[in-house]
Parts: sequence; structure tokens; C-alpha cells
Amino acid sequence: MTEHYDIIIIGTGAAGGTMARALAPTGKRILMLEKGGFVPREKANFDPHVNWVEKRYTPDDTWYHQGQPFRPSHPHYYVGGNTKFYGSALFRLRERDFEEFEHYDGVSPAWPITYADLEPYYTLGEKWYYVHGETGADPTDPDRSEPYPYPPLQHEPRIQKLNDDLAARGLHPFPIPMGMRMSHDGEDGATSSLDLWPQFDGYPDPYEIKADSHIIGVRPALQHENVTLKINSPVERLEVDASGRKVNKVIVKTEAGETVEYAADLVVAAAGALGSALLFLRSRQDKHPNGLANSTGLVGRNFMGHNNATLIAISKTPNDATFEKTLALADYYWGDDAFKHPMGLIQMLGKLNEDMMKLESPTPLAGMTHAEMAAHSLDFWLQSEDLPRIENGISYNRDGQVVFDYTANNVEPANQLKQRLTDFLDCIGCHPGAHNVDFYLGGLVGIPLGHTMGTMKMGTDASRSVLDPYCRPHELENVFVTDGSFFVSAGAVNPTLTIIAQTLRVADYIKQQVL
Ligand SMILES: Cc1cc2nc3c(=O)[nH]c(=O)nc-3n(C[C@H](O)[C@H](O)[C@H](O)COP(=O)(O)OP(=O)(O)OC[C@H]3O[C@@H](n4cnc5c(N)ncnc54)[C@H](O)[C@@H]3O)c2cc1C
Repeated sequence: MTEHYDIIIIGTGAAGGTMARALAPTGKRILMLEKGGFVPREKANFDPHVNWVEKRYTPDDTWYHQGQPFRPSHPHYYVGGNTKFYGSALFRLRERDFEEFEHYDGVSPAWPITYADLEPYYTLGEKWYYVHGETGADPTDPDRSEPYPYPPLQHEPRIQKLNDDLAARGLHPFPIPMGMRMSHDGEDGATSSLDLWPQFDGYPDPYEIKADSHIIGVRPALQHENVTLKINSPVERLEVDASGRKVNKVIVKTEAGETVEYAADLVVAAAGALGSALLFLRSRQDKHPNGLANSTGLVGRNFMGHNNATLIAISKTPNDATFEKTLALADYYWGDDAFKHPMGLIQMLGKLNEDMMKLESPTPLAGMTHAEMAAHSLDFWLQSEDLPRIENGISYNRDGQVVFDYTANNVEPANQLKQRLTDFLDCIGCHPGAHNVDFYLGGLVGIPLGHTMGTMKMGTDASRSVLDPYCRPHELENVFVTDGSFFVSAGAVNPTLTIIAQTLRVADYIKQQVL
């Protein structure tokens, strides 16, 4: 028996959860199929050992990179997907990020849509996801039709001092736009206290104050009787009808080996940039011998993940902030006089405590214990753009193993950005030595899998892109893919608000033109 729905949404992350909430009021019968279950709400949610060493919340998948097996750190198969674990820094791409732009290592290509196309949806997404920010404070922030819907989070004293020191140097630090359900938003159970989070980036939030797509998207969607969620339902394959242009079977294979078939008039793939690409590649069939909608061979290619690094600076005075993820710096986003290429964004991390410091910096800096490091550290996250390259991506080998290819590119801007930061450590009250971990080395540890983009890029030319500008595969009529796959270039801001905005734009298109 095949169960039939009007719409099936595969995955419940930023794209799937947002799409479900956007389409729920249509009254159409909607089925969300989620590979995982709910993140357990438990004390261990905040335990660094459980999260990073025991890896309780990451799947025991084995992928291959340059022939070596590795356990990918970041797919999180849960209701809410990776947003359950994300840092909820919700930035807009800048106008120029949508245009062709010359970078140090080559061209960052133009998108088939402009910032203006997404602007109303960025505005809506900021409202839905409770973005707190200071309008006009980020010198590179694009034009906006409305101010941020919520006021910025307040800096704790050491971060305020950092802000003032940077400003005294002529720089323009600003509050990170953060998606948080704080008490002034009038939400039941919300809080005004940032002390609640001993850990933040990479940890689930049992208090449900972090604006993730489970809380913001899936839960409100399920208030509608026409919406159903099936958990532990990994989609194994999509199959097409005789025309080859319509998906008419969505096949789920449970862990127990049970196969269940669903059908829908419309299918939204939102399994993440890696999950959707793998699903399409697995769905090889007569009409699509190279994988679904993959006659170009581009499905899975052009992966981008940002050139990321942490830099742990040691403050001369203690840093007793419990939540330091309130400050960002974009002065070097487009370059400076000495380096005329885009460099990227600097932002603070949640705050490293002693346990996390042991993991981040196994050998403590000279003359310090990990506890002293944690008591004094200012923890920076540096993010630079990597460029889409055909050789970077995800695929299956002949044995059905998942192969992840990644060679870092455009690394010099990331190094330059780090240099800018280390150059002014003294001015921000820090010792000159800093501990640095790069996440862009292309090695097994350094594979950037937190931000996943580009594996089915959008375009108007069907021979050079997988999706059209509304995220419909050129080769299919009743499918949309709105997760991070559609990115044409990565920009250097965190990607999720763009996934949310494009999902809302596509949802409008579906409501107006398809249903
Ligand atoms: C530690 C960490 C911190 C981050 N911090 C930030 C941040 O501060 N700001 C920001 O903008 N971004 C951040 N990100 C990135 C952010 O989480 C992603 O951009 C976002 O979650 C991507 O949304 P998505 O819908 O494309 O995919 P995902 O959120 O990955 O969702 C994919 C969903 O599909 C499901 N799925 C996969 N395969 C199948 C299948 N075969 N069948 C059914 N379901 C399937 C998954 O279980 C999941 O629910 C962070 C990520 C990590 C890991």
C-alpha cells in the first residue's frame, strides 16, 4: 500500500522545518519524513565529553576521504537537523555576495537571484527565528526594509571591553545577529538570562530557547491537523514515473530493514546539502542513469564549507563571561588596503570552559593550566569564503561507500584575517601568544562539515546547474530542493538565514504558482 500525500518534505532542518511551517496553512496533506528522532533532553546535552569525545549525538557513519575512513562529525540526524546544534548566528549575505567577485584564489560566481529577491524573506525569516541585532551597526550589512525585529543581546563586561578596545582602534564591532527566544519576546518559558548556557555552539539546548527549526518550524507546523511527522524514516530512494520528469515514489527504508512507499504530488528535498545530494545519487534509475536530475554530473559537486578557524587569545585580565557569543567584526570582509581581496568575518564563540579547552588545545599554552586558559580566554571564530570547485564534493564509490572529496582553496585570505587578529591582540588586552586551530586543511580533522553548501547549485543554464532559481531541478517538475545545496557561492557569513530565506521564497512560489 502506498500512502498518498499532497506534499512530502524530506528532512526537518532549517529548510525542511521552515518549509513545513510555511506550507502548513495551505491545508494540504503534508508529510514530513525525518531520518532521525528527537534529541533527548538530558543533562548530557551540555557535556563536552559526551558531545565531542563520546559523540553521542553524531551518527556512527563511515565516510572516506583520500581512501581513509573517517566518522563525519557534523551530520545530526534529528528533528531540527543541524540547527539543534548550531550557534544560531543568523546573518544575511551581503548584496555583493550574490554577484561575481574576484577573490584571491579565483572567481566567486554570480547567483541567478539577487539580494533584492531574498530581502523580504530575510525579513520574515528574522521574525520567525527571533533574530536579535543592532540595525546599522555592521558596516557591511546590506540594506534592509525593516530593522532587526529584536534588540541585540547585551555584551558581558569583558566583551564590552573588547568591543570598546576594537572601536578605539577605529574598527566597527557589532552585536552578532542571534536567533534566541528571550523573555522580552513574550514567549512562555523564555528567559532573559544568558547564564543558562554553559555551552552553546555544537550543543543542543534543552531549554529550547535557541531558535532552531524544530521549535520554530516543525512544532508550529504540527499544530495543523493536515501535517504529519514520521520520525526514524530515512528516505532511501526517489523514483520517477514513465515521463521521467515526476517523482512518484518516495521510498523509506527503516533501520529494521522495513521498506515503506509514499507518494505525493509535490516533493521537497531538504535533507541537507550532503544528504540531498546522496539521496539523488542513490536514486539512479533507467530514466536517470547518472543519479536523479544528474545528467550534468553536478549533483554532489561544488561543495563549499567555509575556511574556518578558531583562535584562542589569552586575556591579561580574567574573562568571566558565560556567554561571549555576542560580538562580531566585519571590517575585513571585503579586504583592506594591504590585502585587496575579501578576507571574511570574525565572531566570538559561545565560550570555551576548561573541559572544552582540553579538547581544543590539548597542550596548554606555555606556563598555563587548561583551567587558567579557560578563565582568561577570548574565543574567536574566523570564517572566510572557499570557492566552488568541481573536484570538491560527495559521491558513492563502486562499493556503495560514501566518498567525500575536499581540497582547501582560497586559504590565503583566511591566513590574512588571522594575521589581522593576532596583530591587535595587545590592543585588546591579550598576551601575544594565541592558540589556533584551522578547520580548512582538507585533512580528516580539518574537513569543514558544519556549514554545507553548493552540491546542487542553482542557475538558469540547465547544462551548468542542477536547480533553477526557485530550487526546482531542471530535469524534474514536481520536486524542489531548498537546503544548503542551492548555494552558488558561500559568502563568508553563516549560511542558515539564507537557507531559511530561500525556503520561504520557494514556499511562496509553491503557494502561488504550483498548488
Ligand atoms: C556546530 C555547528 C554550529 C553551527 N552554527 C551555525 C550558526 O551559528 N549560524 C548558521 O547560520 N549556521 C550554523 N551552522 C550550520 C547550520 O546548522 C546549517 O546551515 C543548517 O542546519 C542547514 O540546514 P539544512 O536544512 O540545509 O540541513 P540540516 O539542518 O542538516 O537538515 C537536514 C535534515 O535532513 C535529515 N535527513 C538527512 N538525510 C535524510 C534522509 N535520507 N531521509 C530523511 N531525512 C534525512 C536530517 O536528519 C536533518 O534533519 C552550524 C552547524 C554546526 C554543525
